[in-house]
Amino acid sequence: MSVIVVGSMAFDAIETPFGKSNKIVGGAATYIAWSASNFTRPVQQISVVGGDFPQEELDLLQARGVQMDGVQIKKDKKSFFWSGRYHMDMNTRDTLETQLNVLGDFEPVVPAGYQGADILMLGNLSPAVQLSVIEQLKERPKLTVLDTMNFWMDTAMPDLEKVLKEVDILLVNDSEARQLSAQYSLVRAAREIMKMGPKFLVIKKGEHGALLFHGDHVFFAPALPLDEVFDPTGAGDTFAGGFVGYLDSTRDFSFDGMKSAIVIGSAIASFCVEKFGTTRLKELTKSDIDERVQQFVELVNFDIALV
Ligand code: AMP
Repeated sequence: MSVIVVGSMAFDAIETPFGKSNKIVGGAATYIAWSASNFTRPVQQISVVGGDFPQEELDLLQARGVQMDGVQIKKDKKSFFWSGRYHMDMNTRDTLETQLNVLGDFEPVVPAGYQGADILMLGNLSPAVQLSVIEQLKERPKLTVLDTMNFWMDTAMPDLEKVLKEVDILLVNDSEARQLSAQYSLVRAAREIMKMGPKFLVIKKGEHGALLFHGDHVFFAPALPLDEVFDPTGAGDTFAGGFVGYLDSTRDFSFDGMKSAIVIGSAIASFCVEKFGTTRLKELTKSDIDERVQQFVELVNFDIALV
């Protein structure tokens, strides 16, 4: 059992209507690794950081079974930096600044020890980098999962189309699904997107849960109604980490197996938003996760008598 995770490891600065963070550690692959390592090990990380990235953060992940052989450290360069401001609904945000820094000329190298991984999780990055990782794998993983965003649809669509042909599952949010398919109805959007390559599609709807599509089948997992959402950054990546980590542990890649995996993804993402950055993910215990999954079961379980 092993999962390769490709994505950014970064610094973020976040503003919400309720508070502001300093420069904190973030990045898609950071959230994915914290999340996935609750369910499976090793997590085999592929990323790039600058000399400014705290070694302690890499050590903490390594202690959880995250392998760092594929993480390049460019000592004389700066890490990727992203800053964003959330709107009042905490579901939508504006990007204030993106400094690519080390990501600008990132050429991923898949270490020999990562070959033969069962699952490839392609976190949000340029489709050209995602393609390069796919091409370096000698054996096709049993499952390839792709996350992407509107930025790449606007700037790198031909490469994104190539990546889509190579993946089994695509994870996107509702506005990205609409942009990619040019369809407003999410059911129609799903149908169009599945023609582009992925056999399964997960459409995330923030506080309104997530939909799983496969052929003519649809499944819905809610998001847990929370008292307070502190910082939604990384919730999508945390969802992805829980989703692939759980699938790697069960090895059930059927539609039913994926139904459970999106509930697990939603459960773990609900922790991420409770504090700034990765703070809450770092504190989690197995019993916290089990308890929250149980809350999800109770949230959607009902008996109904037809009259
Ligand atoms: P999420 O909130 O799940 O969509 O992911 C937020 C994370 O994505 C942040 O920690 C950022 O560092 C990272 N991020 C934002 N924009 C990009 C980008 N263009 N490429 C790679 N990572 C990004």
